[in-house]
Amino acid sequence: MKYQLAIIGGGPAGYTAAEAAGKAGLSVVLFEKNSLGGVCLNEGCIPTKTLLYSAKMYDHALQAAKYGVSADEVSFDLGKIVARKSKVVRKLVLGIKARLEGQHVTIVNGEARIIDRHSIACGEETYEFDKLILCTGSRSAIPPIPGIDKVNYWTHREALDNKELPHSLIVIGGGVIGMEFASFFCSLGVKVTVVEMLDEILGGIDKEMASALRAEYTKKGITFLLGAHVTGVLENAGEIYVNYELNGTNATLTSERLLVSTGRKPVMDGFGLENLKLDYTIRNWVKVDEHMQTSVPGIYACGDLNGVSLLAHTAVREAEVAVHHILGINDAMSYRAIPSVVYTNPEIASVGKSEEALAKGGTAYRTIRLPMAYSGRFVAENEGTNGICKVLVDEKDRILGVHILGNPASELIVQAGMMIDDGRTYKEWKRYVFPHPTVGEIFKEL
Ligand SMILES: Cc1cc2nc3c(=O)[nH]c(=O)nc-3n(C[C@H](O)[C@H](O)[C@H](O)COP(=O)(O)OP(=O)(O)OC[C@H]3O[C@@H](n4cnc5c(N)ncnc54)[C@H](O)[C@@H]3O)c2cc1C
Repeated sequence: MKYQLAIIGGGPAGYTAAEAAGKAGLSVVLFEKNSLGGVCLNEGCIPTKTLLYSAKMYDHALQAAKYGVSADEVSFDLGKIVARKSKVVRKLVLGIKARLEGQHVTIVNGEARIIDRHSIACGEETYEFDKLILCTGSRSAIPPIPGIDKVNYWTHREALDNKELPHSLIVIGGGVIGMEFASFFCSLGVKVTVVEMLDEILGGIDKEMASALRAEYTKKGITFLLGAHVTGVLENAGEIYVNYELNGTNATLTSERLLVSTGRKPVMDGFGLENLKLDYTIRNWVKVDEHMQTSVPGIYACGDLNGVSLLAHTAVREAEVAVHHILGINDAMSYRAIPSVVYTNPEIASVGKSEEALAKGGTAYRTIRLPMAYSGRFVAENEGTNGICKVLVDEKDRILGVHILGNPASELIVQAGMMIDDGRTYKEWKRYVFPHPTVGEIFKEL
């Protein structure tokens, strides 16, 4: 069996590349050892957002009185929330399969093993290919905390499918994934403690936004331990003990459950990747150029595997770029305007540079800071809460970064990304006509 393009991994990078290449008329074979949709659809973006939506519905119902609506005896059923999550995932996975079949992509359900530069084995079969796109993604990175291998801890996988609400939860790692789960369980009434090694949660996100979100969740009942180094964990009689050191003092926390969300590492072993003799980055991810091509011509690496951004939408765009390069279409990857969102309630969304990054790089910038209450729609829909919209501009008023705390930041940030990508000034941005009343009108106020 010979194909013009082989793709290993059916996550956002792999299925996007397969669909685009199939549409362009290439013969494509896609290998997926688990379920189409990858981490994103099966255990990442979609299931977490589905759970978070249920939590948001519950939050809204509890706060309905603020809007003049009575909702007595509000309750939830975690089993039903998790079952709905699984239904949403199944539906979307089937959708991906149909789309790929529609473009005549050969889908092979099995683990691909790379034999050499032009052949892959899967089961008893060998598949020859001309070009190859590697999209094997990433997996949870578990730090070598003393005792961790003897503790029944959760990663995001177990947290997603758990149907019994613990009374308490410690989350090690206050990054995006840790905070989204902390938010979910906090909404459902679990006593949550977040233990973060850095001096602020959500490393990489603008610190003002991260700190404001932390203040919000502190009010909701989450305990945050910042700058805390976990020194050991153990489990005894159904309780988990987390030892940590903070400001030179050792202490112990206990909880019923422990979630470890301390980052991701590339999926690179066990499938013959070494046979390709690729170059790697200093941090040991697959090295690529702006066309997503590795050090071996004709072999590409898209998505989490190259370690640049670890976001599904980045994976999608990288896959488009790789396929364009294969087809001889002029295109290159740019990471200048990749939005990132924390789907807590309220959401944080950012694109472009943070103040910390600009200050570190010595770039001159000016900050325009607006309360979200400048938008009438925001006030109408967010009783008793406020948010921040922060826009960073250079000396010519061009947008360098936009950071929003407040709902629906995830939907607003796309226009900010477009402005950054197009090199627009904030005055040019204001000239567009915005529908009224919308939260997006906040940008008219710049
Ligand atoms: C809990 C969680 C929440 C997240 N939420 C978001 C979010 O809200 N927004 C966002 O943008 N990103 C989010 N992410 C990140 C997002 O899921 C990833 O960036 C995205 O899935 C990466 O896509 P990918 O195609 O590179 O790899 P993956 O989605 O990891 O897919 C890789 C696929 O390759 C397959 N594979 C690996 N090796 C082989 C082999 N040898 N043969 C056959 N198949 C193989 C795997 O089975 C897998 O299906 C989240 C991640 C997690 C863990």
